[in-house]
Amino acid sequence: MKKDFVYGVSTAAFQIEGDDGSQGRGVSVWDTFCERKDVIFENQTGEKGVDHYNRWREDIDLMGEMGANAYRFSTSWSRILPDGIGKINQKGVDFYNKLIDEMLKKGIRPFLTLYHWDLPQVLHDKGGLQNPDFSDWFAEYTDLIVKKYGDRVCDFTTFNEPINAINSAYFKGVFAPGLRLNEGQAMQVVHNMLLAHGKGSRILHSIKGAQVGIAMSTFEQYPLNNTPKNIEAVRKVFFSREIPTESLDVYLDPVYFGKYPDRIYEKFPVFATQKYIDDMKTICGVTDIIGYNNYSGYAVDEKGELVKLSPNAVYTPMGNVIDEKGLYWGIKFLQERYKKPVYILENGRAVDDFVSLDGKVHDPARIDCIARHLKMTKKLIDEGADIRGYFVWSFMDNFEWLFGYSKRFGLVYVDFETMQRTPKDSYYWYADYIKNNK
Ligand code: BGC
Repeated sequence: MKKDFVYGVSTAAFQIEGDDGSQGRGVSVWDTFCERKDVIFENQTGEKGVDHYNRWREDIDLMGEMGANAYRFSTSWSRILPDGIGKINQKGVDFYNKLIDEMLKKGIRPFLTLYHWDLPQVLHDKGGLQNPDFSDWFAEYTDLIVKKYGDRVCDFTTFNEPINAINSAYFKGVFAPGLRLNEGQAMQVVHNMLLAHGKGSRILHSIKGAQVGIAMSTFEQYPLNNTPKNIEAVRKVFFSREIPTESLDVYLDPVYFGKYPDRIYEKFPVFATQKYIDDMKTICGVTDIIGYNNYSGYAVDEKGELVKLSPNAVYTPMGNVIDEKGLYWGIKFLQERYKKPVYILENGRAVDDFVSLDGKVHDPARIDCIARHLKMTKKLIDEGADIRGYFVWSFMDNFEWLFGYSKRFGLVYVDFETMQRTPKDSYYWYADYIKNNK
């Protein structure tokens, strides 16, 4: 990899910080969602997280010792602006200030995500992403981020995984806030999010050298055979899905090309009216990179159908099948269409980790997963792909949304009762990899 290649680790605020209610942070939709009975594993909540809010220094120390040169974290909107807009929570602002300063001291480049799903509840009560004012609320939040941290942070993700943030949260109702809108209503949510991305990105670009992206998840499928027909079938899986909120082109064509795919205008003529056409001028042209998150790979045949898995297929505790061809083709398709540099902003796997008799955490399956994907990243780069960075999800075990604390993704093991941190074998492996490949 090139000298300036970014070897990072990722986390998200709600999954790690914890909040005991004394630090001025407002309630987010995920706090409220966790209170619903039997939605989250064992009715666990984000209240404790992994106490990163108090243990951040130890965490950044560990990150520095590992040799990561970048850290993708998210700011909690409701920690900084407890009412979503207006009043600032100084303690929250100070928290990220200290965090960023410490990262920089250790040579770690901060990659800041503004929205990793934890919308302030008060804003949701006013309609959340369904409210046409959402983009202005997001712009106010972004403006504050720029004023407070823009002198030290240059790399930004506005939204993490719109397909999860919208399709899972507003269409399928399985993630907070748990709404089941119809397709037309869900498309309005997409539009409001894209407009927020556009307004936010314009504000972020007031920082000299700012790099802005959206972190995209995909359906992680790849062609069984490299025939043009098979490749085209998978391209369709990526870019022409029937359910609009599932299809990558619905989010990314506006961002990079300034228009929705034709089928959206046919199905929902409202988007062809002047207001929406005008909004495209704000949405388009301000996104510098493609952010890509990947966790699996599944072969698809010429008919676009999933190939039956071999009885040897190995499932992670999340039910994913690790296959780095998923990463390969995901990047191929995204870069072929949108022609921007790629950052792999999340990659990794869950393992049923535990502390062994020797006091260590042995996680060869995670090492193998990361090694495969880094090897594939290198192959893509050798073939000419412009990939600038790779981030492991996650730096440490954390609150895995619907699965609570039952799934571990970290390079660092966390005892969820004592909060003690124990670097796993994969932490030391990644440290060596970074050292030998810098
Ligand atoms: C999300 C993370 C999550 C990870 C593992 C990604 O979709 O961005 O927040 O923990 O997957 O499931």
